[in-house]
Amino acid sequence: MILQNIQNILETWAPKDIAWEQDNTGLQIGSPNQHVKNILITLDVNNEIVEEARKKKTDLIISHHPLLYKPLKSVNFDQRNGNLVQKLILYKIALYSIHTNLDFTKDGVSFTLAEQIGLKDIDFLYKDKQTQKKIAVFVPPEYTQRVSSAMADAGAGIIGNYESCAFETDGVGMYKPGIGSTPFKGKAGNLEHITETRLEMTAPSWKVNSVVSAMKAVHPYEEVAYDIYELSNFSNDYGAGAIGILPGRMNKNKFLKHIGYSLKLPVVKYCGTGNAKIKRVAVCGGGGSDLLSAAIRHNADAFITGDISYHRFEETEDKIIMIDAGHFETEHPIIHKIAVRLKNEFMKHSDDIKIFESKVPSNNIQYFIP
Ligand SMILES: [Zn+2]
Repeated sequence: MILQNIQNILETWAPKDIAWEQDNTGLQIGSPNQHVKNILITLDVNNEIVEEARKKKTDLIISHHPLLYKPLKSVNFDQRNGNLVQKLILYKIALYSIHTNLDFTKDGVSFTLAEQIGLKDIDFLYKDKQTQKKIAVFVPPEYTQRVSSAMADAGAGIIGNYESCAFETDGVGMYKPGIGSTPFKGKAGNLEHITETRLEMTAPSWKVNSVVSAMKAVHPYEEVAYDIYELSNFSNDYGAGAIGILPGRMNKNKFLKHIGYSLKLPVVKYCGTGNAKIKRVAVCGGGGSDLLSAAIRHNADAFITGDISYHRFEETEDKIIMIDAGHFETEHPIIHKIAVRLKNEFMKHSDDIKIFESKVPSNNIQYFIP
């Protein structure tokens, strides 16, 4: 399989367009056309991980954190990043990063963290408004099926677990073909009235161009009349953080123990006296403390994320138990999720690609218990 196909699998799950605009997600080193036989999945890229990839004869590293993040002004082999780039090129190992697009997608970093601690009924903690558009097109009724199928094949009409969602209303369209036109019905210079169906479908904003091209390719009109609307609906598929419920209520100590055990934490850093029994839990993998107010608004009994500052702990005002479970620890479960997702796709195509999950503990933060 070529790298481009692997990229397509990953970006169908986590489209690049939902990534944070300052991010640098996607192919970092390599060619989309190179063949891939062995893949190593990791959170970070460092020397040990590059050596691990070389020993396992992998030709592609998929990392969550991009190695090339800030604009690179030089590839200095004596500096950390330049040296890693040099080695990867020398060992013929491609590097692909799937970063904030994996944070903001369903079943991404935060949903996986929620599953890891045993939450059920998982949904986004914060839903994104900016991803959907509606396309309304006027079609002769006998062409509606053909046009809606083409639009659906290009990615329109997906609402949650439902595909090919569309709405049709019949009406009468009017036009006067100009000189030199070849109208579907009628003659140049004559005002025509024609029965038409208004076909409406939604699409993610980054798929609108391909949906419109697919629609025009099968539409019988010389000049297709269509509208594209901005929607302010909340998206079901993209957002930030996650919230869910534990199978049973837990008291504070039992809950802290449970989180420590599920995320393999050497110590559990938290705040909140909270006598309440914990059931509803909000999470965000990585550094997600900006979502604290969303967690409180959603009546979560506890909020788990990483990289929490001293003053952020104050903002809980004892309304919620907040746990700093570490950036690495809250993101680490996504490695296995990426591996499973790819394995399932490769099995569908009977591709014999080996996938390794990195065994290198790339967390630079260590704990010393005196
Ligand atoms: Zn991260």
